[in-house]
Amino acid sequence: MPIQIIRNDITKMECDAIVNAANISLLGGGGVDGAIHKAAGKGLLFECMKLGGCKVGQAKITGGHRLLCKYVIHTVGPKWKGGQKGEKELLESCYRESLKLAADNNCESVAFPLISSGVYGYPKDQALKVAVDTITEFLSDHEMLVYMVIFDKMEGQES
Ligand code: ADP
Repeated sequence: MPIQIIRNDITKMECDAIVNAANISLLGGGGVDGAIHKAAGKGLLFECMKLGGCKVGQAKITGGHRLLCKYVIHTVGPKWKGGQKGEKELLESCYRESLKLAADNNCESVAFPLISSGVYGYPKDQALKVAVDTITEFLSDHEMLVYMVIFDKMEGQES
């Protein structure tokens, strides 16, 4: 199965790369970003300091440090501003650019969090649709196992 939607803590994923929902500084933050930096150790922060930040919709790659993965791909999702400010295109770009970096680095398995759906406020159901559609399109001409890692309950879901 090319996409697997699972419930987990992304820092526990054993795969070639995990994706971080970072901010433009790439110097850590809250949410999944904080959890990844905490689990990876200071070495990740030192490597990120050399990257010079990252634009919204773009992605950069580092080593996995103390995580179980070889790489962390840092991407910066758009902040939700009501849906008419190019948020969808920027979110699609996050998935596409991250997958391209994974492919360029010969990753066979990649795990994504639900980018932008936390502090950045993108509605979770719409964020998941963008993720699945963009990943599915990429997988139509690439061999890769992609996990969508959902951490908390989706709105309207019973359990
Ligand atoms: P953003 O700023 O892009 O919205 P957040 O980290 O606030 O990023 O949230 C993005 C998503 O990551 C949210 O759905 C949140 O529940 C989820 N999340 C938070 N911690 C983890 C974790 N340890 N593993 C996987 N997903 C996580």
